[in-house]
Amino acid sequence: MATNPGYSFEKLKKIIMENETYCQSCGMPLDNPKVHGTEKDGSQSNEYCRYCYQNGTFTKPGMTLKEMSSNIISQMEKMNFDSKTIDLAVSNLPNLKRWRNHVSLKST
Ligand SMILES: [Zn+2]
Repeated sequence: MATNPGYSFEKLKKIIMENETYCQSCGMPLDNPKVHGTEKDGSQSNEYCRYCYQNGTFTKPGMTLKEMSSNIISQMEKMNFDSKTIDLAVSNLPNLKRWRNHVSLKST
């Protein structure tokens, strides 16, 4: 059974506002070394989590922002986050590095 990893709305807001380290693909806080992704040389990524990024590449390179949003909503619902926290996480997604680049590539 999935459990709430222990970050509340306030914690998530603080992480976003204060630019603490969180995954630049899904927005998950990278507050535990175990959740960091890995680079090609096996070193730890400081930008992406292990669910999004392994061995220097995205685990799902073709994923769209829309797919990521619905994925996050269902994951967070399973973990019993309230809707306020889920909304915050999803609304921050377009600001993340992965999706920012995606959007700017399309508009130029
Ligand atoms: Zn991630």
